[in-house]
Order: sequence, then C-alpha cells, then structure tokens
Amino acid sequence: MSSTMTDELKATLDSARKSWIGSANDAQCDFPIQNLPFGVFSSDRAGDPGSANARVGVAIGDLVADLAVLHEAGLLRLPVNARQDVFARPALNDFIALGRDAWRSVRVQLSSLFARETATLRDDTALRERAFVKLADARLHLPVQIPGYTDFYSSKEHATNVGSMFRDPKNALLPNWSEMPIGYNGRASSVVVSGTPVRRPNGQLKLPDQERPVFGACRKLDIELETGFVVGRGNALGEPIACEDAEDHIFGMVLLNDWSARDIQQWEYVPLGPFNAKTFATTISPWVVTLDALEPFRVAQPAQEPQPLEYLRHEGHHAFDVALEVRLRPEGAQEATTIARTNFRHMYWSMAQQLAHHTVAGCNTRVGDLMGSGTISGPTPDSFGSLLELTWNAKHPLELKSGGTRGFIEDGDELALAGWCQGDGYRVGFGTCVGKILPALK
Ligand code: MN
Repeated sequence: MSSTMTDELKATLDSARKSWIGSANDAQCDFPIQNLPFGVFSSDRAGDPGSANARVGVAIGDLVADLAVLHEAGLLRLPVNARQDVFARPALNDFIALGRDAWRSVRVQLSSLFARETATLRDDTALRERAFVKLADARLHLPVQIPGYTDFYSSKEHATNVGSMFRDPKNALLPNWSEMPIGYNGRASSVVVSGTPVRRPNGQLKLPDQERPVFGACRKLDIELETGFVVGRGNALGEPIACEDAEDHIFGMVLLNDWSARDIQQWEYVPLGPFNAKTFATTISPWVVTLDALEPFRVAQPAQEPQPLEYLRHEGHHAFDVALEVRLRPEGAQEATTIARTNFRHMYWSMAQQLAHHTVAGCNTRVGDLMGSGTISGPTPDSFGSLLELTWNAKHPLELKSGGTRGFIEDGDELALAGWCQGDGYRVGFGTCVGKILPALK
C-alpha cells in the first residue's frame, strides 16, 4: 500500500464496504463501491439535450452518478480556490488538472455518499432521481480530450513473437528492447470511445510475388490487446519525470485496442516504425479506473535482466494484477468466442518506467495524454494479445463457437476487450472496449 494514502483513502478500498445501490454489491459487477471510475456521459431523458450536455459521471453498479448534479446540490465539494465547473464539462481534463488531492477528495466523498450506512442521498428520492442515470440508458463519450497518444511495446512475449515472425526467430528481441521501453508517437486524433464502428483501412500492400505494392483494403486486420494510462499531471519541456515520481503523474487506466493493419504495417514500418497501419483508429474504454482504486492489486513486475540503467529504476511493486480477455463475435452471431485470456502483470516495463523514459530527453507531457502499454501477451499460446500471434499469421486459424474460423478480422466482426482486478468478493472492472468492423471504402 502506498505510504501517501490517508486512512480515509484506505477506507475507500475496504472490501467489506457495501453500497445502498444494490447492483454495486454483486460480486460480478465491474463497478462496485471500491472502484468509482470517472467518465463522461450524456442521456436522452426528458429535458436533457443529449451529447450537447455531456458531463462528468462515475459508474456505480448499473448506474452513472451525475457529479455535476451532486456538486450543485452541495453533496460534493471541490477545493474552495479551484474552478467549480469541472463536472459540467464534456471531458475530464479540467477536473484532472485540479490535481491529485482533488481527485482523492472526490473519491473519499463519493465512497462515503454511496456507502450503505449513509442516508444523505440514499433517502432523498427527488435528488436521487436527478443524480443517477441507468448505465444502459447513458451515452458514453471519450472521457478525456487527448493532446497526445504514445504507444509502447513493453511485453517481452509479444515482442519475441512478432520478432520471430517478421524478422528472425533466432534474434527475435533486438538488443535495445531489454534496455528501454520502446515506443512510438501515435495519433491522438483517431482515438475513439468504445462502441464507435471502425472502418477497415485501405493502403499499400506488398504481395510476396510482386515487385511493387498494390493499393487496396487491408487483408490482415488485427487487434492489439492493451491497457492505456492517462497522464494526470504534466511536466514542463526540458524537465524529465523521475521514475520514482512517475506514478504521481498518472490519473488512471483504461482498456485500449490498438487496431492494426498487419499487411500495411509489414511494408511501411522500416525504417521509422508504424504509420498508416495504426493511425486509422484506436479504441478505449469509457471509464478511467484511478490508480487509487488499483492500489490493492499491485504486484511485482517480472524480473528485469539486465538491471535497467539508473534512470529506469524504482523500488517496490509497480505492476498491476488485471485479468484481461478478448472476445470475437461475427455479424449476426448470438455467441461470442473468447479468443484470448491474459494478465497485465506480465508486462516487462512498468507504466512508471514508460513515463520516465518518455520524458528523459526532455519531452513534456500534458494532462490527458494517453500512453498505450503495448500488446499484452502472456507466456502461453492462448494468452497472446493479437490475432497475428494467436493464429501465427493465419497459419493456425481460430475455431469460433458460432461456426467458422478466423485468421484475421472479417467485416462485421465485433471485438471486445474486457478487464478486471479480482478482489475478495468483488471485482474492480474496466467495463468493455468494443468495436465493430465496417467494410473498407471502395
Ligand atoms: Mn500497439
């Protein structure tokens, strides 16, 4: 447990704490009172002008709590000298910018307000009517306005698998890989929220039997099972973030699908890395789970050999035990097939090391910046985080429960990532991160 946590904050993590919102106490619910993830929502109930009224909410059980309403009603206080309109905004950035003391204070207040024994909101039917929307009726928006998006490549198993397939099985890991968290600057503009359809990209494809590329629809469309973290406190240009301090700069985590066009990627990636193969879309889950909520699920990261250079060292536990799944459902099928199961704890480089490395040359980061973990592959063939690895470049297609097989993604397929931390009688979940594939433009 982090030493900077107050007793009040520790109490929000107590597995015995229950809510008067019954659905939050279900052992399978992603959003128990111990979670309290932040997002942005709108709803179409009477008098509510839809997305024009997008505002900050917290998921609890099968409901979304409207923080703008709770604040207006005087049940949720912000620091007196802080701007007071941060919950009535269509992105979390202004709230995040208030700083960690404010996030923690809001977390403590909400946990108390939703606790079974607290009557304030529980017994105020009229206010409850205004302050909650059913999750099923809410429209969920991109939770943060994202100034920049960076994607890492920090799973040793994934890097080894891809290196074996694309280059040389004998030298699958390049010598730099075990010395630093390898990454590239992605496109923030094409990050979309879960549920947004994704169009199959067109691009240059280099077929093995032809000298020049052809232009056409991607034939090897893939997912990358990742998590992402949202920067909660930026750093000034020229002022690196120390590895030991890096977690103080992280607001929380989301699930992230880094859609990838493998055929476009293989032709374009030398010498500067991914470009159009990755920039057409990245999907994230709508709820940002705070690092505070993840505190009980800290674990040791895999042993690092060789020992990282000084600037990449930190004491203590900096990995998190997050169970992850990928499900594929073809168009019209009743049943989805779980095609991969793995865990975020396998990641070789921690989020703290990623952020320290990202800024060590002086790069500034900003509130809302999104950092992808890199594809999370585990050690076994059913724990790989991409179809490229699961089918070994379509050599071993996957059998689907609804019939048929898959080498790569077909039009109409819906891919869903899910993730949760298993607690004692409850789970801190991330919800799902879903995208359905539309046919390429002609
Ligand atoms: Mn990726």
